[in-house]
Amino acid sequence: MKYVWTTTTAEETEKLAEQLGKMLQPGNVITLSGDLGAGKTTFTKALAAALGVTKTVNSPTFTIMKEYAGRLPFYHMDAYRLEDTMEELGLEEYMEGDGVLVIEWPEMIEDQLPEEYLALRLYYKGETTREIEAEAFGSRWEELLEEWKKA
Ligand code: ADP
Ligand code: MG
Repeated sequence: MKYVWTTTTAEETEKLAEQLGKMLQPGNVITLSGDLGAGKTTFTKALAAALGVTKTVNSPTFTIMKEYAGRLPFYHMDAYRLEDTMEELGLEEYMEGDGVLVIEWPEMIEDQLPEEYLALRLYYKGETTREIEAEAFGSRWEELLEEWKKA
């Protein structure tokens, strides 16, 4: 199941992220794709804030995983430089764990994604226009996506 929003300001994108952030539960996994400048960091910061993260969330470019405290632990992962498998890094724990995991560059670990996750794809459509596509994998995410659509 897929749904697409169009936003015309960064604030609108933040609002969407905030709505999603409020609905998240332990063990939720979200993948986040999109070209440079599409709004991945903008979205992630607002999502983290809605999870009660007070520290500044930056792109995890030079680390594979960053961990933040919030209403739920928030794990921000950049799989771009991942050379080992998830198992070697013990990342499976994050996927079934107590927190919310956002994975940038999920293409790098496509075969290691869990059965249930939300795929978010951000598209640059114009200077301040973005398309935000959400695809739900698994019944839990389908329900969450229905809720998010109504939010
Ligand atoms: P990425 O992490 O994908 O490289 P960023 O979030 O760092 O992207 O950058 C997106 C930039 O685009 C920000 O400067 C943001 O203010 C701007 N922007 C303009 N319009 C939008 C929009 N509708 N949604 C998200 N960001 C937008
Ligand atoms: Mg970024």
